[in-house]
Amino acid sequence: MAVHVMDEANRCLQCKKPRCREGCPIHTDIPEMINKLKKAQVMDAAQMLFANNPLSIICSVVCNHENQCEGHCVQGIKGAPVHISAIENYISDSCFERIRIQMAPPNGKKVGVIGAGPAGITIAVILASRGYKVTIFEGHDKIGGVMRYGIPEFRLPKTVLDRYAKKLQELGILVRPNFNIGGSTTIHDLFNDGYKSVFVGTGAWRPRRLMIPGETFGNVAYAINYLNNPDVYHLGERVSVIGAGNAAMDAARTAIRHGARDVTVYCVTEKPAASPKEVEYAMLDGVQFEYLKTVTQIKDNSVISCPVHWEDGAMVKDESQSEEIPCDFVIISISQIPKDRLVTVEHELKLSDKGTLVTNEHGETTMPGVFASGDVVTGAKTVVEAVHLSKKIADDMDKYMQGLLD
Ligand SMILES: Cc1cc2nc3c(=O)[nH]c(=O)nc-3n(C[C@H](O)[C@H](O)[C@H](O)COP(=O)(O)OP(=O)(O)OC[C@H]3O[C@@H](n4cnc5c(N)ncnc54)[C@H](O)[C@@H]3O)c2cc1C
Repeated sequence: MAVHVMDEANRCLQCKKPRCREGCPIHTDIPEMINKLKKAQVMDAAQMLFANNPLSIICSVVCNHENQCEGHCVQGIKGAPVHISAIENYISDSCFERIRIQMAPPNGKKVGVIGAGPAGITIAVILASRGYKVTIFEGHDKIGGVMRYGIPEFRLPKTVLDRYAKKLQELGILVRPNFNIGGSTTIHDLFNDGYKSVFVGTGAWRPRRLMIPGETFGNVAYAINYLNNPDVYHLGERVSVIGAGNAAMDAARTAIRHGARDVTVYCVTEKPAASPKEVEYAMLDGVQFEYLKTVTQIKDNSVISCPVHWEDGAMVKDESQSEEIPCDFVIISISQIPKDRLVTVEHELKLSDKGTLVTNEHGETTMPGVFASGDVVTGAKTVVEAVHLSKKIADDMDKYMQGLLD
């Protein structure tokens, strides 16, 4: 691993205008990271990476590097780009436990963070380091959000999230697991208990429905539910996956690892929405793709597959060409929306037409003292985007609690 990483580091041209950094949504200082590695200042590099992106280890694994840092690397114009993700992963992973975070003295102010996904973790780490007493409320039994309950183990080993759990503990952050805010306890209860500000990072967990006959049958699951715990589903041998984004690739590849022999992805376009790397892996795993096709009905042991074409941006089904295809289980993966219990129960929180939380440029929701970011605000996006936005919102929450926010 080390030799490979150094070989890659030596290929970096240290461009004056580093395009890799521009391509990174969180603007990681990649040339400086490589510079420090080459000078054997690995801990310094790790400190720098963590300060810029507390989820650096995870982003080094799950980001869409081919479109971001590596997709912008000058070396990639004529040959292979520098393997930036491997370098970042080596540094962040090998130093994580030794990273020292500068902690401001306690300021006596309490902050409530709802949701322990990338957005909530980022807010918690930043505000704890600034002296706030942070409590995270998490509906699941463990931290991580989609990183733990969505992205499969074969792509992101859960041990990395257990290491984050320890880090949060070291920073004095309290986590209250198995506890949904919006049920017995509301945001008002948190304010009544003295929290100065509350952050909502509850993500996007409500599956979008296809609205076709058979969607409620026992041989059907939404990808976000299936991936939560694939072991409890009995798939049979033939699985149809409807949708072709990254979550669909995860569902299809997981189904293969759970014994399905014949997995078909139905994709309504000519090119899947998932990143090319994920599609390539799905194909290597043996997943079949049916392009320009959808499913119009689910039956007990089959699906009705229907060709589609596009007219002025609208999808048109060619129903006369429909075919009945044998199938034991159907996984629907056409994205998620944030409309969960909390955002619907708290009537002071205004929602957009798309079901996302409405916030201003500081991340303030329509409920005073309540901020939000991540998928609940942006709709389903990525880990790095949740972290990037949350860094800014952490600054604004800090200003708000000091009475400095305009
Ligand atoms: C299957 C799948 C694969 C993906 N793969 C990738 C990938 O490879 N790379 C990438 O960058 N992005 C990927 N994404 C997207 C990425 O995971 C999300 O954009 C990111 O996790 C959003 O972070 P978040 O903190 O906003 O929300 P989440 O990660 O959804 O976390 C929200 C947390 O809030 C908790 N919660 C919700 N409601 C409540 C409540 N009322 N009270 C208490 N807790 C609550 C949830 O249990 C959850 O832990 C994937 C998404 C899916 C669905």
